[in-house]
Formats: sequence, C-alpha cells, structure tokens
Amino acid sequence: MRIGLDIGATNIKGVLVKNRKIIKKIILQTKTEQGKNIIIKQILDALHLLYNRNVDFIGIGAAGVVKNGTIVYSANMSRYGWKNINLESIVKNEFRTKTTVINDGQSAAWGEFVIREKREGTLVCLTIGTGIGGGIVINGKLINGTAGEFGHMTIDVNGRKCTCGNKGCLEEYVSDRAIRRIARSYGLEATTKEIINAAKKGNQKAIRTFEVAGKYLGIGLSNIVNILDPDIIVIGGGISKAGRFLLAPAKREMKKRVMPMNRSVKIEKTRLGVFSSAYGAAML
Ligand SMILES: [Zn+2]
Repeated sequence: MRIGLDIGATNIKGVLVKNRKIIKKIILQTKTEQGKNIIIKQILDALHLLYNRNVDFIGIGAAGVVKNGTIVYSANMSRYGWKNINLESIVKNEFRTKTTVINDGQSAAWGEFVIREKREGTLVCLTIGTGIGGGIVINGKLINGTAGEFGHMTIDVNGRKCTCGNKGCLEEYVSDRAIRRIARSYGLEATTKEIINAAKKGNQKAIRTFEVAGKYLGIGLSNIVNILDPDIIVIGGGISKAGRFLLAPAKREMKKRVMPMNRSVKIEKTRLGVFSSAYGAAML
C-alpha cells in the first residue's frame, strides 16, 4: 500500500492507496499561521492516521519549490517560517519507509496522468486554490525542477504585486484571494465557496467575478498552449468547483489568443477532484 499527502497553505489532504485505488481519504485544515513546527506535527499526525504495516511508500506533494526532499520556499507559506525544511528526512525518521517529496502541482499532474489511459502526448495540469500550482507530463515523464509554476507567469506587465515579488502574476487574478478581491470590487463580500454557490444560483455579481477571473485564466492558458501545444489541460483545485462559470470565459479568451491550429485543445476538469495531488504523490 501507498500513502500520498498533499500539503497546501489551506488544507492537508491524504490518501491511502491499494492496487491503484484510493481506500481512505482525509482532509484537515493547515495551521499555516502557527508556523513550521505545528505544520510538521500536523503532517506526521496525518500520516499516522493513514499508516499501517503494509505501507511501503510515502509520497508527498508540497506547495512551493522542492529540491532533494527539502521544501526550499513557498510563496504563500514561507512568511510563516515554512522554508528550508527537509521533510523527506523528517518523515523517513518517523516511519522508516521510502519517502519522496515533490512539488504539489507536479504531483497533481502525475495523478491526473496516471488515472487516464493515454500514455503519449503532453498533459498540463493547473490546480487553482490559495495560489496556482502546476505540472507537465510529456510522453509519460513528469517534468521536474521548478517547471510548471504557471501561477507566477506574468499576465499584466504593471499588474498587482504578487507574494513571490513579481508584478502581475496569474495567481493575483485567479486564486482564492483574487476571487474574493474581484467579488468585493462588485460589492460582494464573501468567501470563495460562497461566491461559487452564489454564481450557481444566478447572482450576477458572482457570475461577473468569474468572468473576470476566467478571462485572466484564458490569457494564462493561451501562453501555455503556445509554448507547449498540450493534448490536454486539466484544471483542478478548489476554485475549479466554479465549473463553467470560470472555464467558459477562460476557453473563450484562450481561443482568441492561441495559434489557429491550437484552438481545439481539450480542457477538462480533474478526475480526482481535490485529491489529484495526494493521489499523484502516492503513485510516484
Ligand atoms: Zn508571483
């Protein structure tokens, strides 16, 4: 059996996998603001909830830049002390089990690749939540390093300041904080979940919010398509629950901006829901 964990600034999600199937799932709220030691304790507690003596692999997808099992930096978590943490050795010491830690967007892409039949071509995955994570799988190979940081591509030269230090990053326009900010500008003060539900009930302010965010997402997607010519783009993360309210304007904008031969690229919702990254980590 295998355990997969997904560590984000908002939630820690975990799965226990047997014969490629998820047999147990957990979600807990990350105590990001309480700092490094508390988060590490949460991670070990989550692993203990899933662990049994048949587990022979632990995979972890973690938000941020990961190098050789160490979380080096995270745009949304490092300001609370979450940096330079050798999570791989911490987990190995606790469980004496083979452990691999990679970036969460990359493990999400791997999960969405593994769950599909197709083994050739290029799959791109974007997970939209606190920020935007991403990963790229080409002909069955996960591209590693810091590839797939789609959230930090510049889409507005003089745009909003991002947590990463750059200006005009995609995740300043499409993410939890971005959705709330755009809705607020229309006089709708609510959580992202509430905004999604309002859109589904026909609230025009909420619908308009996703049209604006979707347009920016479409600009980002057009850049990805022009660079990588993917066969499929998978959109996951909590914000993807907005469904067509976000994806329809995104597709419209993307089509306007890509090369004519790339207008039919497939854009799909995740098949693993919010567990893409945890499942992908388990299946590394
Ligand atoms: Zn950025």
